[in-house]
Amino acid sequence: REIDAAEYVQRVYESVVMKNQHETEYLQAVKEILDTLSPILAAHPEYIESGILERIVEPERVVMFRVPWVDDAGRVQVNRGYRVQFNSALGPYKGGLRFHPSVSASIIKFLGFEQIFKNSLTGQPIGGGKGGSDFDPKGKSDQEIMRFTQSFMTELYKYLGQDTDVPAGDIGVGAREIGYMFGQYKRIRGAHEAGVLTGKGIGYGGSLARKEATGYGCVYFVNEMLQAKGLSFEDKTVIVSGSGNVSIYAMKKAQEFGARVVACSDSNGYIYDPEGIQLDTVIQLKEVERRRISDYVKFHPHAVYTEGCSGIWSIPCDIALPCATQNEIDEQAAKVLVQNGVKAIGEGANMPSTLEAIHIFHTNGVLFGPAKAANAGGVAVSSLEMSQNSMRLAWTFEEVDAKLHMIMKNIYESCEAAAKEYGHEGNLLVGANIAGFKKVADAMMAQGI
Ligand code: GLU
Repeated sequence: REIDAAEYVQRVYESVVMKNQHETEYLQAVKEILDTLSPILAAHPEYIESGILERIVEPERVVMFRVPWVDDAGRVQVNRGYRVQFNSALGPYKGGLRFHPSVSASIIKFLGFEQIFKNSLTGQPIGGGKGGSDFDPKGKSDQEIMRFTQSFMTELYKYLGQDTDVPAGDIGVGAREIGYMFGQYKRIRGAHEAGVLTGKGIGYGGSLARKEATGYGCVYFVNEMLQAKGLSFEDKTVIVSGSGNVSIYAMKKAQEFGARVVACSDSNGYIYDPEGIQLDTVIQLKEVERRRISDYVKFHPHAVYTEGCSGIWSIPCDIALPCATQNEIDEQAAKVLVQNGVKAIGEGANMPSTLEAIHIFHTNGVLFGPAKAANAGGVAVSSLEMSQNSMRLAWTFEEVDAKLHMIMKNIYESCEAAAKEYGHEGNLLVGANIAGFKKVADAMMAQGI
């Protein structure tokens, strides 16, 4: 049966390669998941008989659209918008919007595919989707951001709905962009349907602790991995790449847990502060003033700024939390981390480690918290935001944070248990993929072809 299952997986993967020839990121995400599913497929031949993999790798729907807007110089600009509605077996499509020049069909599909399993792991009733645009927010004025996001929503709104498809933020999309998009959706629909977007401002339907959720959740997850081995964050040296929403709150929680965070980065370079990163400065620079991380050294001259991003992984650390973007840790970076004695990796970003890097971590006994489990806290609290919107009430920060903590603990336990049940004890990547897959596959089976 294991052989039949492995052959089936291989056959499906080959057809995905044929159909999505140049979509390297999407193929990487599919390979990472399919490679781990043979044990559960062997135990459930009914999945194979009903073509579950062929169905799950094909998005239910992909929308691609023109986004025209006028820049401050009066010139017409055109960007491309995407929304992939990947899987609705567990609930309305749910997943963020990414605004970044690298955005392509491949990137959105990889993110949407990951989102299916991540959302399943949260235990919340949400399906998987993702969207975005190749628009580059860097250096744009506030007015330009508003005109672009309004144009983007003028096309996207027709595919959304609080029971249909509920976007949120991702790279390049934060509270400001969600606010402008929510305003445009409300204008067009003529109704205040709060649950159509998450990550909203606290004053108009947003949830407390949503901003902190991905970063905090990542640290809660890693804390579970450490505790299981009798370890903790106390006095550990930590590196956190990125300096956006995920990174900032991962640093904050790691510091609260007694760690010394010595480095973080942005897309231009990284800072190393051996005395420990001063988070107030990072928040002021990145969240308030929208400046570059290099300016940190103007306020803390003992810190060092280095141009380029990959060097951050050569700083010796006990725990590394990649919270910037996909494939930021390659084989070489993984080898250096291992040589320097890293004990645990927690993926705050989506697919930040290449397949080769993950292999290095697993074969060297490094605790590895895969993205779809470790960064699920953000979307989990998005789902709690939807619940609060439906009930027309707002929970306190402490209530939401306690629920988040519980969800991350449950995710850790279900990954652990699934890995053990299917013969890969301790491998949380296998556990996350199998546990996430099983719930979606069972719902798809129950709902017919
Ligand atoms: N973009 C985040 C993620 O990758 C959050 C999605 C959401 O809250 O819907 O999971």
